[in-house]
Amino acid sequence: MYDVKSMKAEEFIADEEVRAALKYADDNKDNMEVVDAIIAKARLGKGLTHREASVLLACDNEEKLQEVYALARQIKEDYYGNRIVLFAPLYLSNYCVNGCLYCPYHAKNKHISRKKLTQDEIRREVMALQDMGHKRLAIELGEDPVNNPIEYVLEAIDTIYNIKHKNGAIRRVNVNIAATTVENYRKLKDAGIGTYILFQETYNKESYEQLHPTGPKHDYAYHTEAMDRAMEGGIDDVGLGVLFGLESYRYEFAALLMHAEHLEAAHGVGPHTISVPRVKKADDIDPSAFDNGISDEMFEKIIALIRVAVPYTGMIISTREGKAVREKALELGISQISGASRTSVGGYYEEEPEEDNSAQFDVSDRRTLDEVLNWLITLGYVPSFCTACYREGRTGDRFMSLCKSKQILNCCHPNALMTLKEYLEDYASEDTKKKGLAMIEEELKKIPNEKVRKVAAQHLAEISEGQRDFRF
Ligand code: SAM
Repeated sequence: MYDVKSMKAEEFIADEEVRAALKYADDNKDNMEVVDAIIAKARLGKGLTHREASVLLACDNEEKLQEVYALARQIKEDYYGNRIVLFAPLYLSNYCVNGCLYCPYHAKNKHISRKKLTQDEIRREVMALQDMGHKRLAIELGEDPVNNPIEYVLEAIDTIYNIKHKNGAIRRVNVNIAATTVENYRKLKDAGIGTYILFQETYNKESYEQLHPTGPKHDYAYHTEAMDRAMEGGIDDVGLGVLFGLESYRYEFAALLMHAEHLEAAHGVGPHTISVPRVKKADDIDPSAFDNGISDEMFEKIIALIRVAVPYTGMIISTREGKAVREKALELGISQISGASRTSVGGYYEEEPEEDNSAQFDVSDRRTLDEVLNWLITLGYVPSFCTACYREGRTGDRFMSLCKSKQILNCCHPNALMTLKEYLEDYASEDTKKKGLAMIEEELKKIPNEKVRKVAAQHLAEISEGQRDFRF
């Protein structure tokens, strides 16, 4: 029944294969010969299968675990260097017809205030985001064919890309909307979106159906096959994720990797990103109602193992997590983070009064973008607002070949430095600017190709003189 290339959810995420992988993991987790062989394979930097990675997840030998963490750090360093990409979510509407038990937007929640931004309100929100320094957004909407039709989403994207405000510019809009049709994915592609993101929530079909009792999202196959339709519609950067806490983490972990394997096998390109959200407290939602919550330690282990299992896939962590967890996660594999997020509709322009709660979940990291940047720089990470790849058409397998050819230091590194310089010139506090400029000077030396290094240095000087938007 399990068929990695099948286009049917129940075949590429076959329940019996997930369970067989978990059994294989239990049978081998204490067999150090097997564990060592898997770690040796992972060292080659070409990834692991869901079965192999599941063995490492089940293994609780401290020494082996430390080897895995060291390897995750190494792979992170080799493939992503010290750059961290920043983005912000933008909530456009919280109207929703679904009944998701973990989400405050669920249709039966009558005390949350329902809001949908007008195009003028979107402009206001985006200008507030631009004034912080953001260049990449992920737009978020509830599912509601009447209030949030695809035309509304497309109009919003057009509005966002066309805002001219000081030196600000949103250069990449990622989209996190409910599973939709090939035709609608094609429209999103034509509108110039970056990544299409859709969290699976849970891969366990039975739990999925219980957690989504009503609304179009109830359909497990339609939801799980969404990325195949997105790819059919021409979107080749797709972002996966599960909502940790709903189901057993071991099941989710194996199935998530099976999904990545499926995309690679069926379309020749794996997921562009994987997100690792954990269920949070929200209006009408108590996370302890779901009994599969994971500890910070297990969360870190999962992040490290995703890093090792799919080295070419970017990993995202949001402000659902606080500073300490994010710091550890950055070390172990995360390559993208959100900063200064508001999860309420309209929350950037105007902080929402508490009694008017339209937020999706409580944010744990409430620092400003400048504070987040200052923190990253202090930790030795280069904050990046780069959007060059997708604007240069390096998406899907072309992006993957950039990674595989190890040209990242000649491409991503100068792009990161140039976008950081823009931030420092336009939005940074004194202290962040001072630290950031010193970092750029040092990091420039890391660009191996002399010609690229010289051109980058020249562009950095031109940015000081007021020019913007250079890229390799
Ligand atoms: N409505 C869209 C859909 O159906 O996929 C996606 C947008 S929703 C705004 C983004 C994600 O937030 C959801 O996919 C879910 O994983 C996550 N989410 C929902 N409730 C949450 C909660 N209480 N804590 C943390 N994350 C939550």
